[in-house]
Amino acid sequence: MKISYFFLILIISSLSSAASFDQYKKRPKLIVMIVVDQLRADTFTRFEKKWKPKGTSDQPGGYQYLLSFGAYYPLAEYKLMAAMTCPGHAMIATGAYPSTMGIPMNAWFESESSRVVGCVEDSKFKVSPHRLKTSTLADELKVISPQSKIVSMAIKDRSAVMLGGHKADHVYWFGDAGWQTSDYYTKELPKWVQSENKKIFENELKNKTKIEIKDSLYTPSAVKWSTDLAIQALKEEKLGLDSSADILSISYSSHDMAGHKFGSFSKEVEALSLAEDQEISKLLAAIKNQMGSLSEVIVVLTGDHGIPQTVEQAVSNKLDSGRIDNLVFYKSVAERLNKKFGKPDSEWIKATVSFNFYLNPDALKQRKISAALVAEEIKLEAKKMKGVFDAFTKDDFQNNFVIHPYFKSGIVNQYTMGLSGDIVIIPEPFYMNTGENIVNHLTGYSYDKFVPFIIMGSQIKSGVRSEAMEIVDIAPTLSFLLGQVPPAKSAGRVLTEALK
Ligand SMILES: [Zn+2]
Repeated sequence: MKISYFFLILIISSLSSAASFDQYKKRPKLIVMIVVDQLRADTFTRFEKKWKPKGTSDQPGGYQYLLSFGAYYPLAEYKLMAAMTCPGHAMIATGAYPSTMGIPMNAWFESESSRVVGCVEDSKFKVSPHRLKTSTLADELKVISPQSKIVSMAIKDRSAVMLGGHKADHVYWFGDAGWQTSDYYTKELPKWVQSENKKIFENELKNKTKIEIKDSLYTPSAVKWSTDLAIQALKEEKLGLDSSADILSISYSSHDMAGHKFGSFSKEVEALSLAEDQEISKLLAAIKNQMGSLSEVIVVLTGDHGIPQTVEQAVSNKLDSGRIDNLVFYKSVAERLNKKFGKPDSEWIKATVSFNFYLNPDALKQRKISAALVAEEIKLEAKKMKGVFDAFTKDDFQNNFVIHPYFKSGIVNQYTMGLSGDIVIIPEPFYMNTGENIVNHLTGYSYDKFVPFIIMGSQIKSGVRSEAMEIVDIAPTLSFLLGQVPPAKSAGRVLTEALK
């Protein structure tokens, strides 16, 4: 009896491990958000013999340090039908699904301007977060702590902009002349950013052509430039040094760029992964040196989406794989529609973005035919194509006539009325679109939707977590730790099991 009481007490005490209010009040002074663009869920396993040693809190290693001292969720999920960069970063920052927050894809067809627009494109400022229709973690922090500093950087503008949110102090991405920003944030680059550019162009990019500069973004050099800028920001903006919490976000874009160009299993991506490991270690050491310790820092690390094997690799692994050629599809669609409704003067399809097809209003008007009827015909044609799992129309979505249950939540979370296509194709696994990339994500299959997630800090229990978690849980969890309201459209949960 005594023994069972003992175990009962043990069980009860382990279930009710609430932090005391005094503990909770010791809030982090710095949140570091690290995103690796195109981080497949198996990356840490694949290279586990090659990572730097985990190190100590005085001399932190890279990935192994975070994996060992943080809570590690090997399979964090993007519950989407098509995982990609802009919605991925926006989900990390907002805890919201694309269908509510206005960023369903990297780009989409905009009916008012009748052209394809990028997710951070802005006619007034060139680049801004104005298409993001909710607050971010950083925006909510600014409400209760205006003196908090929000700094964000990535080679890709969309990654830096989404992580920064609407009220960021510093947001930088890489262009022909080095790190740049837009008038939305500031009119002039701060001196410390200018001097980073000077350093890069006097050393590594000296006398390089535009093409050579672009090529360098696929290499470990760009990982280093990103980290160097983050470390400069840390010093110049004195991040983490006063009582108001700051947020430093960095997204390593090169990983994705090289993954598309050479494949995720290439030596180029391996070299980048090892460079990230080194650079993350360097960043953690710089933070430790500035703040004296990492005890008041929360570090989170994740990816914005994964990546499949290349078609060649999948075929050699005896998987059904191939490409869906838009031009072949357009041709068969045109034949079908011309025969049925008569040939219009213009194309039936106005634009295609990431398996979203947009009807041409001119063709519909001319042939006096409804969008719904034409979309239905295109859908039927799509379903005949090899490599297509299913397809649905805007009407199907509105009438809740949604395809296979596997994709139901992914579609509901991502499809956005007015921004997503009139017809959407869901490819079979290992099928991808044609284009300059040798491999692409853009699906809701496991290789694209799962990424690792790590959260490390003195409020966090270290250990590998087997609980299901979604990317939308990150922002509410950080909001909880900061004692603030989660972002407006946040849909996730607090990762209770990982808290001390
Ligand atoms: Zn990508």
